[in-house]
Amino acid sequence: MNLPRRRFDVLVIGAGGGGLRAALQLAQAEANVAVVSKVFPTRSHTVAAQGGMNAALANVLPDNWLWHMYDTVKGSDYLGDQDAIEYMCRAAAHLVIDLEHAGVPFSRLENGKIYQRAFGGQSQNFGGEQAARTCAAADRTGHAILHSLYQQNIRAKTHFFDEFFALDLIKDAKGYILGAVVLEIETGQPWVIEAKCTLLATGGAGQLFRTHTNARINTGDGMAMASRAGIPLQDMEFVQFHPTGIAGKGMLITEGVRGEGGYLINREGERFMERYAPHVKDLASRDVVSRAIYTEVKEGRGCGSHGDYVLLKLDHLGEKVIKERLPGIRQTVLTFLHIDPIDQPIPVYPTCHYVMGGIPTNRFGQVVAPYNEGAEEAIPGLYAVGECACVSVHGANRLGGNSLLDIVVFGRAAGNHIIEYLQGHRYHRALAHESVEQALERLVRWERSGDGESVDGLRAELQKVMEQNCGVFRNEEVLKEGVSKVKEIAERLQHVRLKDQSKIFNTARLDALELENLVDLAQAVVHCALARQESRGAHYRVDYPERDDARWLKHSLYFQEQEQIEYKPVRLKPLTVETFPPKERVY
Ligand SMILES: Cc1cc2nc3c(=O)[nH]c(=O)nc-3n(C[C@H](O)[C@H](O)[C@H](O)COP(=O)(O)OP(=O)(O)OC[C@H]3O[C@@H](n4cnc5c(N)ncnc54)[C@H](O)[C@@H]3O)c2cc1C
Repeated sequence: MNLPRRRFDVLVIGAGGGGLRAALQLAQAEANVAVVSKVFPTRSHTVAAQGGMNAALANVLPDNWLWHMYDTVKGSDYLGDQDAIEYMCRAAAHLVIDLEHAGVPFSRLENGKIYQRAFGGQSQNFGGEQAARTCAAADRTGHAILHSLYQQNIRAKTHFFDEFFALDLIKDAKGYILGAVVLEIETGQPWVIEAKCTLLATGGAGQLFRTHTNARINTGDGMAMASRAGIPLQDMEFVQFHPTGIAGKGMLITEGVRGEGGYLINREGERFMERYAPHVKDLASRDVVSRAIYTEVKEGRGCGSHGDYVLLKLDHLGEKVIKERLPGIRQTVLTFLHIDPIDQPIPVYPTCHYVMGGIPTNRFGQVVAPYNEGAEEAIPGLYAVGECACVSVHGANRLGGNSLLDIVVFGRAAGNHIIEYLQGHRYHRALAHESVEQALERLVRWERSGDGESVDGLRAELQKVMEQNCGVFRNEEVLKEGVSKVKEIAERLQHVRLKDQSKIFNTARLDALELENLVDLAQAVVHCALARQESRGAHYRVDYPERDDARWLKHSLYFQEQEQIEYKPVRLKPLTVETFPPKERVY
């Protein structure tokens, strides 16, 4: 087929904070960069980030990057790779200042310094008093960051393909990644974008679950593309449930509410987190708070006529603090619940928020696979950063405020590494036509007409299965059922048909392509969750309630084609400091 073709030095797929930070680094180094995004760049999910970004600036309370590193290692339940964590925490302060210079209007303290609030899992002195490490622009930090990065990219002359949907990577027989086949949404025309190097920055996959905080577009496309290209996905069993979603609806109420002094109560008005985390209470890590809420509800202490949520109380903070520090939250609550948090507590319940797992990378953003007796190789010409990647700084549980940090730190690191890569790879390789044809087959498949199941129906079913069979509390029986139900959904996907075969802005076709991606990912999640016989971070097995370092201090790697799981060791050795050896995690 004769497709429109374009050539660039670097193709960045995804225009969230991760993709844009990398693109900026590259464009400023005068590389010819294209950014492809299925939505207009500033609609990427980064725009929704509320609470802030961690860096040990010590503007409010004493702090140190090493304490930040300790908290991150502990928060990850020791599954995080300590070299990457050290790199991220050391770089944090520099990256915040860098963003400030790029135009991010951070909130200010009286003395003019950047405002920082307390967030979950933050401590001084390796587990001491609460720290205040999260740099915030009110409760719209992601919005501020994404818009500034977009404007800087426009200035640096990054080339944007807005509203282009990436279908699949192009790979040649030697394993080099040569770019991607993308679909122009407006016309339905497929294009080939060739590049010496491709970076995946396609974000998370919260759409796997029925109740979630994520944007409609968070369907894990990049992870699924990598998986189809033969790359294993790492640690997919670790899915974060945020403790405070609006009950029954899922929209996020930032941890910043608790950072500002809000707290959770049950139907008896009891501040129950005191029982679960006596030391830090409501600011324990997210997995701990989510399980506590579930337990309260399960044991009959939930609020409302069905007893199926708890309350987040913040009226005692006063009108001024709420209006200045949490204006977006107030608006969300007014819009969706028709109550004003200045006078009334917010009904909340855990909601799917973040995928800790993803495409395995090293701290330079290079995609690495497979792991073979102590060695892993970089896939030539392929990088990944942000929520779609697993570098792994979040391990089994991410701390709030560490993702905005992750995306800019590793976005920049990948940009720098790609500049080096380009020096050794000056020319485009010959296009792999077979791989292009394969990508196009995915499109053609949706042209089959006739009667069949609907995309919407099957997606709803998948989300329900994931919620029921792979939620916060898991055991062998429900997970086994989950594996077989997801398999059945994958088979039924073959019989789904589209009624609308038009080309122009056919969003039904995009929904179908996204559903394919979600089904691929769901298989990775349920298989890995069934295999891991321990409880660690966000992965809680009722039948194996303890963490088991002797058997399970290792990353899982799921190979889609073979339906196989392999394991690789956690990198416990940091770059320059001493390791934080695994110990019991209490808050
Ligand atoms: C409501 C909410 C609040 C949050 N608050 C915080 C917070 O306060 N602090 C914090 O640290 N973290 C927070 N997080 C997490 C954090 O915002 C995200 O993990 C992070 O922004 C992800 O950035 P990203 O660059 O990886 O991807 P995203 O910002 O999700 O961008 C993904 C990009 O990929 C593109 N894309 C995807 N698939 C395709 C495709 N097939 N073809 C073309 N383009 C594609 C999209 O168009 C988009 O441009 C929050 C998350 C949510 C959902």
